[in-house]
Amino acid sequence: MRGLARHTTGGAKSSSDTIHELYGYLRPRAKEMAGLLGRFVRAESPSYEKAAVDRFGRLVAAEWRKRRARVEFLRQRERGDHLRIVLWRGRGRPLGQILVLGHLDTVYDLGTLARMPFRVSHGRALGPGAFDMKSGLVIALFAADALARRRIRPRKRIVFLWTSDEEIGSKTSRAWIEREARRSDAVLVLEPSSGLDGRLKTARKGVGEIELSVTGRAAHSGINPEDGVNAVHELALQIARIARFNDPRRGIGVNADVVEGGTRANVIAASARALVDVRVKRAADMRRLEARFRRLRPILPGARLEVRGGFSRPPLERASSAALFRKAQALASRMGLKLQESFTGGGSDGNFTAALGVPTLDGLGGVGEGAHSPRECVLVGKLPERAALLAALLATL
Ligand SMILES: [Zn+2]
Repeated sequence: MRGLARHTTGGAKSSSDTIHELYGYLRPRAKEMAGLLGRFVRAESPSYEKAAVDRFGRLVAAEWRKRRARVEFLRQRERGDHLRIVLWRGRGRPLGQILVLGHLDTVYDLGTLARMPFRVSHGRALGPGAFDMKSGLVIALFAADALARRRIRPRKRIVFLWTSDEEIGSKTSRAWIEREARRSDAVLVLEPSSGLDGRLKTARKGVGEIELSVTGRAAHSGINPEDGVNAVHELALQIARIARFNDPRRGIGVNADVVEGGTRANVIAASARALVDVRVKRAADMRRLEARFRRLRPILPGARLEVRGGFSRPPLERASSAALFRKAQALASRMGLKLQESFTGGGSDGNFTAALGVPTLDGLGGVGEGAHSPRECVLVGKLPERAALLAALLATL
């Protein structure tokens, strides 16, 4: 019945009706959602296993095709293929685009499922990637169902981009993410929410990795230590120096998390290196911190120091989320839910899109806890309201 279909207008009254219709459809579907989540979690998809990620990608693609969405595989040679799904059922030209971001990959190696099988217990669905972020992928499918069943046509074209390498830095997907973001008026990220009250993520730190590598000179530690230059000592002095770059009040974090060097206890170490995790809350601090690293000079005579790397994800500053968050909060309150926001030190692909100046709202995925750990779980009872919130955003943005 074409006549029943309509474009939503985004006005206060109509968006209130819209969200009640959507929530009404989704509310009784928690069990169904958990069922699909089980199928998704059982298809293991570690970032480094292309064949497995592709198998999972085909499973997700089949679900979207059942819903008559246009699905495109963005083929990758080394990593899993990314999925680009376009949902546009309106007539004429869309009034813009909304990008919904998520990832297919998980941090769990193949075989983890044997130790950590998918199961639902006490209202929690457990299993590798159940929370981060296969629940988000399920939420998107059910949000699309709700829009179709309630014959609500978003005014904008919706592009879902499910990438295969988010957990390992998004090297093959970043260009795709940025390309779609530039065409979009808003980006909604289905990464897990924060806390058991499902707080959205309105700010994230920028993240990077810097390598310090020191070259010294080997010598016998007993016979002629004076001919050597101890690279381990040099590195230790450098680490003490960069530890002072930390400024928690300003949101600057600098941590040498991997160190290696030397060969034997009786040989003056000829080389040493450290991998340093760097995080900042403000974009302005990103370049400043990189510059401080670049200005480091050797301390011991004869030592050489090389500094490589830098920030790979710029921070998601709250300003890029504020308006979208208010909108989401208003929609949630019409469902009788109180939606809060949070700040996190972890990065996501939303960092890339926010850095382009595209309004970005993150943490719209599942509610749960224990991401990247054996306790990872998502609250089944909250899946419908998250899907309703996403559907309402898609309908009214
Ligand atoms: Zn994630």
